[in-house]
Amino acid sequence: MASKDAALNQLMDYKQKNSSPVATTGTGAPTIVKDATQSVGPRGPVLLQDVHFIEEMAHFNRERIPERVVHAKGAGAFGYFEVTHDITKYCGAKVFDTVGKKTPIAVRFSTVGGESGSADTARDPRGFAVKFYTEDGIWDLVGNNTPVFFIRDPILFASFIHTQKRNPQTHLKDPNMFWDFHTLRPESIHQFMILFSDRGIPDGYRHMNGYGSHTFKLVNSKGEYHYCKFHYKTAQGIKNIPADKAAELAGTDPDYAIKDLFNAIANGNYPTYNMSIQIMTPEQAKQTKFNPFDVTKVWPHSEYPLIPVGKLVFNRNPENYFAEVEQIALNPGHMVPGIQPSPDRMLQGRLFTYGDTHRYRLGANHLQIPVNCPFKVKNFQRDGFMCLNNQGNAPNYHPNSFSGPQVDPKVKAFYPPEPLTGDIDRYDDPITDVDFEQPRIFWLKVLDEGAKERLIANMVAGLKEAHGFIQERAVKLYTRVHPTMGAKLAEGLKLAERTKANL
Ligand code: NDP
Repeated sequence: MASKDAALNQLMDYKQKNSSPVATTGTGAPTIVKDATQSVGPRGPVLLQDVHFIEEMAHFNRERIPERVVHAKGAGAFGYFEVTHDITKYCGAKVFDTVGKKTPIAVRFSTVGGESGSADTARDPRGFAVKFYTEDGIWDLVGNNTPVFFIRDPILFASFIHTQKRNPQTHLKDPNMFWDFHTLRPESIHQFMILFSDRGIPDGYRHMNGYGSHTFKLVNSKGEYHYCKFHYKTAQGIKNIPADKAAELAGTDPDYAIKDLFNAIANGNYPTYNMSIQIMTPEQAKQTKFNPFDVTKVWPHSEYPLIPVGKLVFNRNPENYFAEVEQIALNPGHMVPGIQPSPDRMLQGRLFTYGDTHRYRLGANHLQIPVNCPFKVKNFQRDGFMCLNNQGNAPNYHPNSFSGPQVDPKVKAFYPPEPLTGDIDRYDDPITDVDFEQPRIFWLKVLDEGAKERLIANMVAGLKEAHGFIQERAVKLYTRVHPTMGAKLAEGLKLAERTKANL
C-alpha cells in the first residue's frame, strides 16, 4: 500500500515506471552471479580472479568524497526563475531581459556548521544557494537565510568556522570557543541576534527568506552601474520551530528539512520565493553612514526600498542526490555579463575560496559535471583528471589564426571602468557606534516583547555553558546594543547573584 509520505514511496514509484534491466559490470559486461563470490569449493577461499567482486568492492571503498567543510548537510531541488518586473534599467543580464522569461534554476539549501549526518533543526544559519542556467552561462547567487554575516573580513573565516565546529581535543562542540570568538569580534552581534531570534531555527527550507547578503554590482546595457542587494521572500510564509521542539526533532527526525522539501515537491506543493533587489547609486555609496560593502550591515528598506524582480519556483526533486546535490558546485565567482562583484571584502574572499574548495572536492574539471554546467563551453582549458569535454580538435591557445573561440566585442559594455583609490594596507575596521545601530533597531523595532524574551532565553541557554569572564564580556557588549538587553541577559545568566555569592 502506498504511504502518505512521498519520500517513502520512492522505490515503489521507481518499480512502477521501470522493468528490471540486466545487471552489468562497470564495463557493461553482463554480471554472472550477484549473491556469491567465486571460491574454491563451498568451504574454500575467495579467488582474486573474481573481478566482479573486486570491482564492486574497490568502487565501494571510494564512494565518499570529502564533505564540504561548511554547509555539509543539505537538500537540493530544481525549477525555474520567472521575471515578473522589468529591471533592465539596472541590469543588462539576459536572465532579466524580458518580463515573463523563464530560466532553469537549481537550489541547494543547507545548514552550516554540522557534519553531513547532523540534525536539520540545529540553530544555525541556512544556506540558500541558487544556480541560474542562463543564456549567458551560469550565474550562482550563493546566499543564506540571513541578510548579514558574522564577520566582514575573510581573513577571519577559517577561525570563525573552527569556533562553530569541534574542539581539537574533546571533539565536542565548545561553548567557550563559540562565545569567546563572538565577543572578541563584536561586528558579529547583528548576525548573532538574528541567529538567536526565532528565525534561527526555520521550519524546514520552505518557510524562510533568502538573501544574497553581499553587495553586488549590476551593470545595464549602456555600461551604467548600481550597487545591489538580492532578497528572496518565501511565498509560503515565515515559520520557525521553537527551541524545545527543535531539540526533540533532532533526535526523532534529524532529516526533517530534507524530507519536508522532498515531499512538498513530490506532492506538487512547489516552494516559491519572490525575488526583489535594493539599489544604491555609486554616489549614495560614498555617503552612507555605514559601509555599504560591509556584510554585517543591511540596507534599511525605508531608504533603499525593495524593487520586485521575479519569482523562483522549485518543482522537481533531484533524481540522484549524489550526482545533483552532493556534486553541485555553487560559487559566487560564477557571474554573467551585467552582474559583478562589489568591493565587499567577504564577497571578494568567497570569489576565491568556493572555486578552490570545488577543485579540491571534485577536481579541476568539476564544471564538466552536468549539474554544474550543461553547456558546451568553448575556451582554452584542457586535460586534467576526469575530463569529459576536452573540446575535440579545436585550437587550445589564444590568440590563434585557426578559428579558435573569439571574444564577443558586445560584452565589453558590461564591464565599465570603476574608479577606486586607496592605500594598500590591512584595515581591521574598528568597532564603532555604527556597528550597534542596526542591532539596536532589530531589538527595538523588529522584535516584539515575546520575541525579545525568546532571544534572551536562547542566548542564555548557550552562553551559560561558557566561562564567567566570557559571559561578562557578552553582557557588556549587549548592554551597548541596548541597556535593557544587557540587563535581561545578565538577569538570565544570574550574573549579579553569582558575583554576590563569590564576594
Ligand atoms: P523593516 O523595518 O523595513 O523590516 C524589518 C525586516 O526584518 C523585514 O525584512 C523582516 O522580514 C525582518 N525580520 C523580522 N523578524 C526577523 C528576525 N527575527 N530575524 C531576521 N529578520 C527579521 O527593516 P529595516 O530595513 O528598517 O531594518 C530594520 C532591521 O531589520 C535591521 O536593522 C535588521 O536588523 C533587520 N532586517 C533588515 C533587513 C533589510 O534588508 N533591510 C532584512 C532582514 C532583517 P520579513 O519582511 O520577511 O518579515
